[in-house]
Amino acid sequence: MKYLSTRDSQLRVSSAEAVKLGLSRDGGLLTPETVPQIDGAFLQSLTGASYQERTAKVMALYLTDYTEEELLTFANNAYGPDKYDDPAAAPLRKVDKNTYCLELWHGPTSAFKDMALQMLPQLLSAALQKTGEDKTVCILVATSGDTGKAAMEGFADVPQTKIMVFYPKDGVSAVQEAQMVTQEGENVGVCAVVGNFDDAQSGVKRIFSNEEIRKTLANRGYLLSSANSINWGRILPQVVYYVSAYCDLLRDGEIQMGDRVNFCVPTGNFGDILAAYYAKRMGLPIGKLICASNKNDVLADFLRTGVYDRNRPFHNTISPSMDILVSSNLERLLFDLSGENDAEVRGYMETLAKEGKYEVSNKIKMALQEQFWGGSCGEEHTAAAIARYYREYGYLIDTHTAVAAGVMERYRQETGDKTPTVFVSTASPYKFCDSVLTAIGEAPKGDGVELLDQLNTVSGVAVPRRLAALKGKQRRFDLTAEKTEMDNVVLDFLK
Ligand SMILES: *Cc1c(COP(=O)(O)O)cnc(C)c1O
Repeated sequence: MKYLSTRDSQLRVSSAEAVKLGLSRDGGLLTPETVPQIDGAFLQSLTGASYQERTAKVMALYLTDYTEEELLTFANNAYGPDKYDDPAAAPLRKVDKNTYCLELWHGPTSAFKDMALQMLPQLLSAALQKTGEDKTVCILVATSGDTGKAAMEGFADVPQTKIMVFYPKDGVSAVQEAQMVTQEGENVGVCAVVGNFDDAQSGVKRIFSNEEIRKTLANRGYLLSSANSINWGRILPQVVYYVSAYCDLLRDGEIQMGDRVNFCVPTGNFGDILAAYYAKRMGLPIGKLICASNKNDVLADFLRTGVYDRNRPFHNTISPSMDILVSSNLERLLFDLSGENDAEVRGYMETLAKEGKYEVSNKIKMALQEQFWGGSCGEEHTAAAIARYYREYGYLIDTHTAVAAGVMERYRQETGDKTPTVFVSTASPYKFCDSVLTAIGEAPKGDGVELLDQLNTVSGVAVPRRLAALKGKQRRFDLTAEKTEMDNVVLDFLK
């Protein structure tokens, strides 16, 4: 199977190259040329299988440069008991008679980014061998919290790779900072940047586009790459858990083969729900894809009107991992819905760059509205959802998951749709103790790691073992840089 650029469908690369490149040179996103189809027999064969086996079977349909055996080894490394605290890796929890929650935070950093970032480094390391690359890849990441830690954890000690993470000095939570500065591994580095997330992000972008630095590093045997969610190697592992959730519903007798199921996904960059869209395109019986935004509601407006308009205020919310105004992965959806019309997609992206907005064709708008339903959930409504789930179901959910729960509720009220619905849980409530405590009516006492104990005492829910272990951990990194110094930090790191 080949991969095309969303901005030039003449360009064709292999699956290993797509993983290695991350982004196409023309700025487009690398996207599979056809969507492999699955049927009832395929799903039936997976109902008794482990999460790891399901992963190998689904990913093998797309990654034709890799053997199924190889993928199974990667899946065992990624989702096994030393990484995941639940043998199902992505367990499905029944909430009421037609509502289920897909928990994606049982991995090492307690956020759903582990599902992809435990897999991508292994795919990348193998891709280097498959494409005859002898340089070491250095991953540069700017993070607002979750991605940096998940990427460090995934890349730690992976052969032929190094990783350097930049985070805004006063812009991440105490737990998130503790997670990063205690990271183990010989090939990892982390640096606080004086400034906000945008400063860190533009610093990284500047380094990527600096030809002189690239040359210096190439002479030293290094190649720069990125681990953010535009890499197909991050989207594909996410397709697996939608298939897996359906297989669990079948196995448990909750549905019959062929019954439709809705998924409600909290999203910012449109990565997670794009994976659900691919699962549907493969033939998984999905009804509506419900796209849940927080107060930054650019996607909800887009799905309703067909106009994507980033010219609006940016809100810092209690679900910070979804505070995004430009959803990069939407480009892959537009490419697919336009019938792989690269010129049309290029047009939208140019207009977005120039004017901060674009309007899709009527054809795309109709297709969007048939497949998706978009809604947003404000701050109060988010906190109320946490309180309600805790009170009614004894179920403690985090702020991002609560956005999904809130939007799902609105969808059901407005449409009357009774289809069984799975909403996606993307972080452990322990990653956002402060907001979760407040939502259930407790005043947070102290900060950072201390709040883990308070939430535990109040709720009785076990603290994820890796978060609990943070308290005794030695700080390994203590590097701070001005934003203008970031290139020197990288040159130092890659001596
Ligand atoms: C990153 C993140 C999201 C949003 O994921 P997308 O890739 O933007 O769909 C949601 N919840 C949490 C906890 C996250 O870390």
